[in-house]
Amino acid sequence: MADSLEIIICPACNKKMKKVFLPSKNINIDICIDGCGGIFLDNREFKRIDEQHEEIDEILALIENKTFAKVDESVARMCPSCCAVMVKNYSSINHEIQIDECYACGAKFLDNGELQKIRAEYLTENDRSADFTENLLRMLQQKTETK
Ligand SMILES: [Zn+2]
Ligand SMILES: [Zn+2]
Repeated sequence: MADSLEIIICPACNKKMKKVFLPSKNINIDICIDGCGGIFLDNREFKRIDEQHEEIDEILALIENKTFAKVDESVARMCPSCCAVMVKNYSSINHEIQIDECYACGAKFLDNGELQKIRAEYLTENDRSADFTENLLRMLQQKTETK
């Protein structure tokens, strides 16, 4: 999906989101600066900022130590990019952080603070997939043991 320069309306609080350019990645991220502090990303963008080693100073400068409007995280949201209903999903096998995902276009919406939590989970993409593989093996093992 091409990086769109269209203004996106926040799926959580309906405010206009601000485009933040990350020169190190050459992508634009949509952040709800005037509302809830949520972040809207397409699938490609998410992969590039979800681990600790990836630099996102431009985003952090805008959202850290700020107070944003509170939103109800349990309500279903509509994807601002393709209008499909977004699905709540855990961001990793740790099952700690729930984010909104659009199955139609692959976009994700993170509530304020979730990006930092997701990044704190894994240092690199390798760590993330190693944890995933380990967990899979453990599950398979448990299955064979109970037989
Ligand atoms: Zn918002
Ligand atoms: Zn979508």
